[in-house]
Parts: sequence; structure tokens; C-alpha cells
Amino acid sequence: MSGRKVCIKAVNIIWKADIYIQKNSRWFSKHKLKKIGATPHANGCWTIEDEEKDAVTKICEKYRLKYTWYKKEWARSGNYRDVFFQFYDPPYRCRYCHRRLPERKVEVDHLVPVAKVKKSAYARFLLRIHGIRNVNDRRNLVASCHKCNEKKRDKMGRWYIRGRLGKYRIYWLVRDILLLALLAGVCYFACFFAQNTLCF
Ligand SMILES: [Zn+2]
Repeated sequence: MSGRKVCIKAVNIIWKADIYIQKNSRWFSKHKLKKIGATPHANGCWTIEDEEKDAVTKICEKYRLKYTWYKKEWARSGNYRDVFFQFYDPPYRCRYCHRRLPERKVEVDHLVPVAKVKKSAYARFLLRIHGIRNVNDRRNLVASCHKCNEKKRDKMGRWYIRGRLGKYRIYWLVRDILLLALLAGVCYFACFFAQNTLCF
């Protein structure tokens, strides 16, 4: 019987965890986590290799530390702003209000927010249907003004819809026409009722 040799290369999954360490157990729990190979970062996030995941989970449960697991691809990268400017040329417009922005005023926003992707299967599904496997992919990065970015934060819903449609000029045109039609309708009915009231 002829056989074919199949080589399977083991690829280590890198996990990240946000671990909330209480003040009173800070040194001890950090020491325990470091001892099994978890790497701490300045932002309170830890990088953990797949084989250490169970051990870290046990420590978190033993010391009652709140934690969230997510894959490395779902963590905010340090260079996503550079990635955005590398792929997108000016002029820039806020994706949520269509205001024109000079480069220095552009705030680069994750359309599907990092915090949601870490926790929600639905948020990850929204990325997957667009073929996005990394939350910092250029297709998930949009220009935003400071005001919209502050209001949006980690929200999705209408912000996500506006962010997706906002790249098409026709969306803003249709939106303006509908708003004008609505305003005209309101004025018309206001006049109509005012006239009827005066007749009586
Ligand atoms: Zn805006």
C-alpha cells in the first residue's frame, strides 16, 4: 500500500487577555502569571501562548481575577493609524457626518470597535462577512472627526450602518434630499393646521 507522508506544522495560537488585577493582590498575582510565561503589557493586557491558556485561567479563577480572552488578531495594534494613512489618500471626510477634515484632525476609528470584537461573536461575524480577519485591517479603519468619535466610542447599531454607507456620496445626497423633504412636509402641515385654526 502506498502511503503519502503528510506534514502538519503546528502553529501556536497567541492569545491575549485583559486581566483586571485588584490592588491588594497585584504583586502576587502578577508574579504567578509571569512565572508561567504570560507577558504583561503597559496597557494591562497580557500575551499568552496557547499552551499556557489553561494555567492562566486557573490562576485567574483561583484569585478571583476578572478576565477576558481574545485572539491576538482582535487586539488593537500600535500602528493602525499609520496603516490608515498608508492606504488612504486625502481628501479625508468624517465617515459619520461627512465633514471634510485636514489630516491632522483625522481620528482613525475602528468601524467595528475593538472592545466589541473582543467580546461579541456578532461583531466578529460582521468582520468575517467582509473577509476581515484582523480588527486592524484597513477595511475596518475609517476617518472620523473628534466630535463623532467621542459620541460613537464602542457603539455599533446606527453608527455601524452610517459608517458603512458613509463612504458612498449617494448616501449623503439621498439623506439630504430626505431631510429636506421631511422639513418641507413639516412646514406644509404646520401651515395647513395654522390656516384651519385661524378659519375657526
Ligand atoms: Zn463627524
